[in-house]
Amino acid sequence: MTSIDPPLAMLAEVTHRCPLQCPYCSNPLQLLTASQEMDTETWKSIFSQAAEMGVLQIHFSGGEPTVRQDLEKLVAHCEGLDLYCNLITSGVLLNKDRLIRLAAAGLQHVQLSFQAAQADNADRISAYPNSLEKKIEIGRLVGEIGLPLTVNAVMHRQNLDDLEALIDLSVELGAQRLEVAHVQYYGWGLRNRAALIPTRAQLDRSTNIVEAARERLKGRLVIDYVVPDYYARRPKSCMGGWARQFVNVTPNGKVLPCHAAEDLPGLTFDSLRDRTLADIWQKSAALNHFRGIDWMPEPCQSCDRRELDWGGCRCQAFALTGDAAVTDPVCELSPHHDQVKQIAKKESGESPPEFLYRRIGGAN
Ligand code: SF4
Ligand code: SF4
Repeated sequence: MTSIDPPLAMLAEVTHRCPLQCPYCSNPLQLLTASQEMDTETWKSIFSQAAEMGVLQIHFSGGEPTVRQDLEKLVAHCEGLDLYCNLITSGVLLNKDRLIRLAAAGLQHVQLSFQAAQADNADRISAYPNSLEKKIEIGRLVGEIGLPLTVNAVMHRQNLDDLEALIDLSVELGAQRLEVAHVQYYGWGLRNRAALIPTRAQLDRSTNIVEAARERLKGRLVIDYVVPDYYARRPKSCMGGWARQFVNVTPNGKVLPCHAAEDLPGLTFDSLRDRTLADIWQKSAALNHFRGIDWMPEPCQSCDRRELDWGGCRCQAFALTGDAAVTDPVCELSPHHDQVKQIAKKESGESPPEFLYRRIGGAN
């Protein structure tokens, strides 16, 4: 069997606990509780295995990773292994002392999420009081203690009017990078799709705003821009291809190719409680299932983009067709593509329903 290159980066979902309840959260509908999480020593062993394999970056994620009181220990362990440590956080549980401790432990970068630039809208979307004020305070502190900052702005029809203000806020906070990412529709985002999907006109306006800001802020702020797949003509290269560049580890030790894959039927994802990371990465039936190009149906199989976008997103294919093994329907060449356009037109044209907030039991 040919050896498979190691992943470049690990998304370490150290917990699903989070004080916020964003309706587009990338966590699965069935959230794990604190008692199901792996302990400090188990996570350390996983990071050691990752370094041994050649993984270069650890992205501490969740839920909200700072709910874990052992986060400094985990960061310090990774630092000792020469792993680059990034923290993906909502910021609301942080304070100056904790940030200083994390930086001293070896944290190298902070990605701070914002729900909106208007306080009442930010509170409504996150279901958390005074979240904006707290996030601005943390954004400033990150710069003050000398860590690079990326602002994550997840955009949808209920906060797109804040886009310009979020760009201004990123500049004011001294962020090096801003990620303007329209919601992707799986998990909680899929459940809330009708409340979140923008109209074509809203999307075009946001694209114009981003393009103008990129020009205006050249050399000061890098802006990444992720459009909603439902308005695209070709899919993105989801995670750089299934089990190619990224590995996702859930709070209880499952190894996934992306944060949403656990919802796919018919695949059993292996656990680090039973097998080593290297063994799972190389031999897991679930990771090998959609790896490479052999699994691809037509039109992907004979398409010259098949090793560029890897057939798109398996979770999206399943969400839209009930079959994870078909061409991602956001591709114009997919026989299901019209269905995607119809959904976008219909749902974005209707009044948005109430949010179904992300919480344990909230999807039932
Ligand atoms: S998306 Fe919102 S609810 Fe989900 S982990 Fe991030 S901050 Fe928490
Ligand atoms: S047919 Fe498949 S490989 Fe070709 S562009 Fe569409 S999704 Fe990508």
